[in-house]
Order: sequence, then C-alpha cells, then structure tokens
Amino acid sequence: MQVIYKSKGKAQEYAPLAVNLYHGCSHGCLYCYAPKVVGRNHDDFGSCIRPVENILELLEQDASSLVGDDREIMMSFETDPYQPIEITKNITHNAIQILKRHNLRFTLLTKGGMRAARDFDLLEGYEKASFGSTLVFIKQKDADYWEPHAASIADRFEAISLAHSKKIRTWVSLEPVIYPDQALEVIERLQNVVDHWKVGKINYHEKQEAGVDWSQFQKKVATVLKNTGASYYLKKSLTDQSGN
Ligand code: SF4
Repeated sequence: MQVIYKSKGKAQEYAPLAVNLYHGCSHGCLYCYAPKVVGRNHDDFGSCIRPVENILELLEQDASSLVGDDREIMMSFETDPYQPIEITKNITHNAIQILKRHNLRFTLLTKGGMRAARDFDLLEGYEKASFGSTLVFIKQKDADYWEPHAASIADRFEAISLAHSKKIRTWVSLEPVIYPDQALEVIERLQNVVDHWKVGKINYHEKQEAGVDWSQFQKKVATVLKNTGASYYLKKSLTDQSGN
C-alpha cells in the first residue's frame, strides 16, 4: 500500500487503516498533534494546505489491492477531509467514489460541518460508510479558542443531524474532552442522531483545566452513554487513569 496505511498507536483505537488526503489542515486546533507527527510547525501546517501528490491515482491502486478486505479506512488522522479547498479540489469527493467502487469500508471524520453535506448523497445507502464529527464544546467561545477555523458548533450539529436524517451511520468523536460538563451536554443534545460515540480526554496540554476528576467523568459518561442506547468506546486515555 502506498497511501492507505495501518494505523499506529492511539490511532488504532479509531480505525485499523487510514489515508490522509491533504497535507496540512486549516482548522488550526490548538490541541492538534498532527504538525508534530508530520514534522511541521503549527503555523506552516495550518497555512500551506495542498492535496497529497497524485493522491487519487495512488488511492485507486491501493483500493484495488484491498478488494475483499473489510477493515475500516479512516479519512483522516493527519488532516481533515473537508478543507475549504475541497470545494474546488474535490479530492475527498473523488476518494469516496474510489473506495465505494472497490466496495471498501470507510469513515469520514471532520470539523468541516455542512461543507461535508454535498457528499451525503454518495454515503446514503452505502452501508460500509459512516460520517463522524468532532464535537467537544457547547460554548462557541471555547470552540473559537481551541478550534479557531473549524466550522461552528451549530454547523457541525446540523451536519450530523442531516446525515442521520439520510440514514447514514453517524458518530461523534468526543475527543479531546477538555470541559467534562460541555462534553456531557453534547451527548444530551445529540443523543437522538448519533449511532456511535468515541470518548477521550485531553492529555498533557498546558491549557487543560486543572482539578478535573477524570475517574468520576469516566463513570458518568459511561452511564449517560449507556442510557442513550448508542454504542460507545472509551479511549485508553480516559480509562487508563495513570494518564492523569
Ligand atoms: S481538524 Fe484535526 S487535523 Fe485539522 S487542525 Fe484540527 S485536530 Fe488537526
């Protein structure tokens, strides 16, 4: 494989395979680990966005070699598939069609909100696809601080709700939880439109809230999620309390 790769470390808790369609990401999240992973500084990573070279040709080749493989492919760990330039570049749009043509299983995770909605007709009725959004805040002022160039919370809520209404499998990445009360409120507000939840906490960030009882949050979030009837996964960052 050339552009589809096996997830490593904590990323394996999301999906066994992944592909990054773009270099860089314009959303500018303060907690983003991707610049470090790819060896770029935060400003450069957020300002120089371009499709990975020959990405669609290489993806086509990898997809051919994976026919019959049912492992889920994540788009994406080191960028967001719905960059503003996706509107004209159509990279994610074409990547979805390639993966579908080869009958492969995949999921999209984005903070691009309704920018993703133009691809919902491609996901509708394809049971091997799911659509996810990262949502850890209720207060827009906190999202503006931590995720300055991502779609607004309202826009992301709208995208998840619309996907659900089209019977696309939906999920929310509640990671990194920074303010436990806001995370619990996200669940409360979206419980009727989300099929799966993935929860992890912030780790080792200088701005993380001091004094959070993560053990108590873990118990509370598990109880709340059980009551929603949706499936959920608590990441090791949360269940391994040695990370506190
Ligand atoms: S959307 Fe994802 S890849 Fe983009 S800056 Fe935020 S955390 Fe990083």
